[in-house]
Amino acid sequence: MKSHGYAAHNATSSLTPFQFERREPGPHDVVVEITYSGICHSDIHQARNEWKNSKYPMVPGHEIVGNVTAVGGAVTKFKTGDTAAVGVIVDSCRECENCKADAQQYCLKGAVETYNSRDYEGNPTYGGYSNNIVVDERYVHTVSSKLNPAAVAPLLCAGITTYSPLRHWKVGKNSKVGVVGLGGLGHMGLKFAHSFGAHVVQFTTSENKIADAKKLGADEVVVTKDADAVAKHAGSLDFILDCVSAPHDVNAYLNLLRLNGTLCLVGLPEVPVSVAPFSVVGNRRSLAGSGIGGMRETQEMLDYCAEHNIVSDIELTSIDKLDEAYERVIKSDVKYRFVIDMATLPKS
Ligand code: NAP
Ligand code: ZN
Ligand code: ZN
Repeated sequence: MKSHGYAAHNATSSLTPFQFERREPGPHDVVVEITYSGICHSDIHQARNEWKNSKYPMVPGHEIVGNVTAVGGAVTKFKTGDTAAVGVIVDSCRECENCKADAQQYCLKGAVETYNSRDYEGNPTYGGYSNNIVVDERYVHTVSSKLNPAAVAPLLCAGITTYSPLRHWKVGKNSKVGVVGLGGLGHMGLKFAHSFGAHVVQFTTSENKIADAKKLGADEVVVTKDADAVAKHAGSLDFILDCVSAPHDVNAYLNLLRLNGTLCLVGLPEVPVSVAPFSVVGNRRSLAGSGIGGMRETQEMLDYCAEHNIVSDIELTSIDKLDEAYERVIKSDVKYRFVIDMATLPKS
């Protein structure tokens, strides 16, 4: 199938128009004409080879919403015209213990990612900065018509990546939770933690985000350059979700955890984290991590969002402004997720 989109060609180039082929849909496949595609900081890390695993040409994009334009003969969940969504994973082995436990993101064979990856036939995968995508229906999600599809797109990565650990560590109405970094992931983590009934402390480097953080559900906001304001929470938090994209000191946050508290990294800066042993030995603390979520949990998150009217706060952008959007994301200057309006992609 002929497809086209925007691709990075090396670690320093701008993204430019690119034509490529996708597989013809098989019996279990759904063809989605993409209408909205979110810009995740992981797109930037990978387009610029910050994780040292980039394959070019690369069509980024793993926060995808669109309309179903064709379905294979064996497809049962979708019909032409439905709204559908695709996230970070488009296939997994379906047989290993992690796949069987609905944790396909941790597939022992290696899940097939939506872009910068290879399918099990060895073909490169291309993501959502493009006109369409072909995906097995088991890796495609249904979207409620109650929600704005543009603002749903970021739920497919920023949403599930924050929902999943908050559920895993059982954040609820008796929890005091810290969210570090108010970006794409952070603002979803804040919305979910607030919605689950937790007392939420938002940590930010950006003074100009204080009012927004309160509107988004923060009970308290701490500007992190004020070390005394940070230290005031020492030993008091049950759980911290660290959503920061750049290197930073996690010890300052570990010290805020109370007995048996956990700091979960979801941010993926390109350099190793340095941990002072005293930061985890005190209060028997845990430093953990979490990656996106499985297919069942992603659908659960989308259904939860429909029920509770939760979507991302977005800025729509056109596809010819990717460079500008990337620069603004890096400067923490987006409120709070860019979404590409794919109607701005030229027709061929
Ligand atoms: P983002 O929108 O750029 O948000 C990152 C936030 O981190 C910024 O808004 C800023 O918040 C804070 N920040 C930035 N530079 C900082 C610095 N030097 N020191 C302290 N704080 C800083 O990025 P995102 O899309 O939310 O992604 C965040 C990270 O998660 C990225 O590394 C991404 O690759 C990773 N990620 C992981 C998963 C997973 O499965 N684990 C999934 C998706 C993304 P303030 O302005 O509030 O300080
Ligand atoms: Zn992402
Ligand atoms: Zn597997």
